[in-house]
Amino acid sequence: MQGNTHIVGGITASLAFAQISNDNPFVLVGAGIVGALLPDICHGGSKIGRTFPIISKIVNKLFGHRSFTHSLLFLFLAATLLHSFIPYEAITAGILVGMVSHIVLDMGTKQGVKLFFPINISVRFPLTTKTGGKVEKVVLVLLSGLSLYFGYELISQFVQVI
Ligand SMILES: [Zn+2]
Repeated sequence: MQGNTHIVGGITASLAFAQISNDNPFVLVGAGIVGALLPDICHGGSKIGRTFPIISKIVNKLFGHRSFTHSLLFLFLAATLLHSFIPYEAITAGILVGMVSHIVLDMGTKQGVKLFFPINISVRFPLTTKTGGKVEKVVLVLLSGLSLYFGYELISQFVQVI
């Protein structure tokens, strides 16, 4: 999936998570966007790959695209590292939620993801789409609609509190 789809996916997922969590929704969404872009560090042409070209090259050489950084192992390592080094729970939660949204979205592409890395199996949904294709645009519109809905819910909760 393209960077924009991942960003909106991260926003949607973190806003959805904000409904059931007491963490600050703004922090969750900010961290959610970072988390949603993080897995594509394995791909030099991605937004994050262009921001950190050297790290991106190394990760790509070592693991290839959509393998280690799109796996449960990477999620687990990220969760452990974030818990150890970042004292603010909302940031950790947001980044992880964003990463999960990224992996789930990439499971909707033909190539799938190596979810169980280092076991070499591609995992994807029964229905998949081409990256950048028409279906991805539909997904983008649906996700945007969902985030507006979740965002509206949150704002109306705030208004009620006031
Ligand atoms: Zn990806």
